[in-house]
Amino acid sequence: MSVSSRDALRTAFLYGLLSVLWLQVTDHLLNSYFDDSAQLAQWQLINGYVFAFFSAVLIFFARARLCGFLGMSPGLKRQRQDQERLRQAAVVFDCTREGVLVSNSCGVIVHVNRALVEITGYTAEEVLGHRPNMFKSGRHGPAFYQAMFKSIDESGHWHGEIWNRRKSGEIYPQWQTVRSITDNKGQVTHYVAVFSDISAIKNSQTELARLVHHDPLTDLPNRLLFTDRTEQVLASSQRHQTGCALLMIDLDHFKIINDSLGHNIGDQLLRAVADRLQRIFGKGFTVARLGGDEFAVLVDNCPQVTQAAAFAQQVLEVMKGAFEIDKHQLFISASVGISVFPSDALNAEQLLRNADSALFKAKSTGREGYALYTEELTAHAQYRIEVASDLRRALEQQELRVYYQPVHDLPTSRLIGVEALVRWEHPLRGLLSPGEFIPIAERTGLIAEIDAWVLEQACWQMVQWRAAGVELSFVAVNISSRLFTRPELYTLVSTVLADTGLAPALLELEVTESAVMDNSKVALEQMHRLRALGLRLAIDDFGTGFSSLLRLKQLPVQKLKIDQGFVAGLPADNDDVAIVRAVIALGQSMGLQVHAEGIEQVEQAQFLLDLNCNLGQGYWFGRPMPAKDLDWQRAPVIRA
Ligand code: C2E
Ligand code: MG
Ligand code: MG
Repeated sequence: MSVSSRDALRTAFLYGLLSVLWLQVTDHLLNSYFDDSAQLAQWQLINGYVFAFFSAVLIFFARARLCGFLGMSPGLKRQRQDQERLRQAAVVFDCTREGVLVSNSCGVIVHVNRALVEITGYTAEEVLGHRPNMFKSGRHGPAFYQAMFKSIDESGHWHGEIWNRRKSGEIYPQWQTVRSITDNKGQVTHYVAVFSDISAIKNSQTELARLVHHDPLTDLPNRLLFTDRTEQVLASSQRHQTGCALLMIDLDHFKIINDSLGHNIGDQLLRAVADRLQRIFGKGFTVARLGGDEFAVLVDNCPQVTQAAAFAQQVLEVMKGAFEIDKHQLFISASVGISVFPSDALNAEQLLRNADSALFKAKSTGREGYALYTEELTAHAQYRIEVASDLRRALEQQELRVYYQPVHDLPTSRLIGVEALVRWEHPLRGLLSPGEFIPIAERTGLIAEIDAWVLEQACWQMVQWRAAGVELSFVAVNISSRLFTRPELYTLVSTVLADTGLAPALLELEVTESAVMDNSKVALEQMHRLRALGLRLAIDDFGTGFSSLLRLKQLPVQKLKIDQGFVAGLPADNDDVAIVRAVIALGQSMGLQVHAEGIEQVEQAQFLLDLNCNLGQGYWFGRPMPAKDLDWQRAPVIRA
């Protein structure tokens, strides 16, 4: 039983006892003192009033005690609620993960919670009695704190990000809310600061920013960051009237490594290339990976083209050493395109585009070299765009023509086949040769339509010749490397053969050596599928690619076409003689037909015949011409 309930019982007991005593004693005294009954009755009435008065007083006190016992006193009730609220607040205060600091109106810390101790590393004793500036990191200037105090003074609160220092010395970001507490008169009595440690959020933000701006494979800046830096460098170059250069680097034949050794080795090689580039380019340079096997370097303070070219030369040199990757010794060369600011371009986008054009030039002039962007190159690019749109129209308006060039059997000198070669009868520029539009068609993707059209025309023509009794063994059609590895080629060829009714054995497809080697796995599969249709396959411009003998042996081809570049040197150039001799021997040993193109003189035909070359094609036999102009009887005498 509680103290208050015992008091209430005691009071009730005392009240009862006193009431009985009072009534007994007063009744006895009045009876013995007054004989007169009227007087006695009067005094008994007075006694009754006195008793009632004392009873009222006693009941008042007893009731107060009873209310206290039952907890019914409003003051006490409020007090009890306040106590409960305080107890709850204390639990929240202690359990919350946010640090809480209470300071008095003079700014002296009077209370802290457990989270503050955990976040700051200080004990409560080390903090109490001090001022919050003991946590200052030094990262914010006086203006920051002035603005903070001004906000608290004016609005009673402040919130924002603030960098503070832990006991360990480490500085870290907090999200903090400060609020002032006032009394009834509006006087500030305390300040409460609640804060959370947001270093984890900040770290993930930084990590996110890093991922957005860096290439995950090499950790180099990516295209986004590179473009941004280029813009900054250009702005600073403009201010300081200096120049800068952009080098765009592309690895030559990287695809072969990826396809033959797998993407894992390819990735490791890209990382190793990134390391080498970073080693030669130190501070003042930004090395980036723009994607795939394309890298870029931004050279600050480099106004001279010759200086930029020297850097490009360095890139080519550093690539020369073997890359040791996973027990493989890999060699890879690079091509570099250079564009300089301000002479070549006036903004970052232009600089990047021009370096890319220069890179294209470097690639098309034989790779493993560098090329500079010039005005002439821009004009070339514009020309390419015009031709591309013109070419689309040409296809629709049937301005393309197929010419046929005779192919002769060297031992008999007889015409035994033809090669279909496309021409463009341009309404303004006259007859254009494929060299003027095929490379553009390849870059724009139009080549697939052109090749499909030529294939269809050539097959129809062959069917007509055969129907007219012309004894031709084959019609050869060139297939662009762009189209060769695509699955739709198979569908196209089989449809054309079915539509025209041409015997597949009369069709020969020519594909260049590099098309086969650049994407060897896919190309090999395609070749097997096409061969299964019953047609013949030839490798065009043989000797200009990088075929390995091993790879060549795996290819299901029937013919090698010696590139005209080697035939041109016959019979005087010893190197050309050696190469042609080797190709013929190679073809024969592998059971392949050997076909020489570009024969312009009888001596060349004689020489090739002596080496047992099977077939010959060239201006000496006949130029490419419209189908109707072919002379089937022509058999020029090779040996007098
Ligand atoms: P290619 O397939 O190697 O064709 C042989 C090229 O050498 C032809 O050039 C031909 O006119 C030329 N030529 C033939 N004999 C001689 C000669 O004695 N001396 C010289 N200097 N040249 C000779 P053309 O017709 O200009 O074709 C060039 C290239 O364009 C072709 O080389 C081929 O790669 C490509 N091409 C032609 N037509 C097509 C086509 O329909 N589709 C595709 N994808 N490419 C084609
Ligand atoms: Mg050809
Ligand atoms: Mg050729």
